[in-house]
Amino acid sequence: MTEIIVIGHKNPDTDSIVSAIAYARLKVELGEESYIAGRCGEPNEETKYVLKLANLSEPKLVEDVSGKKVVLVDHNELSQACTGIENAEILEIVDHHKLNFSYPVPIYVLTEPLGSTATIITKLYLREKVEIGKELALALLGAILSDTVVLRSSTTTETDRRLAEKLAELAEIEDLERFGVEVKKRKANIANKTATDVLLEDFKEFEFPKGKVGIAQVELVDFEEVDKRKKELIMAMERLKKEKGLALVALMATNIIKGDTRLLCVGELGRVEEAFGKRVEKNEVYLENVMSRKKDVVPKLQKVFS
Ligand code: MN
Ligand code: MN
Repeated sequence: MTEIIVIGHKNPDTDSIVSAIAYARLKVELGEESYIAGRCGEPNEETKYVLKLANLSEPKLVEDVSGKKVVLVDHNELSQACTGIENAEILEIVDHHKLNFSYPVPIYVLTEPLGSTATIITKLYLREKVEIGKELALALLGAILSDTVVLRSSTTTETDRRLAEKLAELAEIEDLERFGVEVKKRKANIANKTATDVLLEDFKEFEFPKGKVGIAQVELVDFEEVDKRKKELIMAMERLKKEKGLALVALMATNIIKGDTRLLCVGELGRVEEAFGKRVEKNEVYLENVMSRKKDVVPKLQKVFS
């Protein structure tokens, strides 16, 4: 029996890892035994924390998916998929990002404009009446709270809130808000990371008609480290831009307590000014009430790069 690997994006986050585990498990529960969860990178500190609390092991590391059958979760753009994707057979997609995908044969694509892929998968468990269990419920809740920044991000929907509450019940978590902040705090400390690590931990590339753009995001509880290390971060961004041949590299430094983002950028800064209607000063624009790359930043940059 050929295995079918359910796998999230490069630089995996909690939603990618937990969605892979949960979707593979759902398939197995529904009698399709050949599904296994994979990952194409090292889980971050936040994800490790959630998996440990949930008593779940990390998905299998798959360095290259060439020649394999895969289901993509939490992404659909091939530039964000793991190595070898051009030579893999994609069977299915479950995602909550904008679609930028075409394929020579018909496949199953399930996308919903919800706060996380974990929300979509929770809906599927409920629809199929498959038991979620206390541990998986905790992991799914961790993924929803991670992606929606504890239900604060503009991407959060009523469905995310309702299912987060249901999962909290199943996971026997009494204070959802407190659990969410505990989860988010794991990644919020960048003091011990190099500037390049800060950039690459959550880095996504987008192919727009007028150029390739790289957007990193780091979530913080204050801007102290950004003030201290801005020069170093900008230098690392310049290097990355050159290495990857990008028109623009942006770093969203998002303060999850205030709900604001400092957007550091190098490259075609005129387009950033056009996108946000603000002057770029010292490689930076301040964006109030902005927390979501997907909803608040990518569409605006896509517009000026099209
Ligand atoms: Mn993700
Ligand atoms: Mn996601």
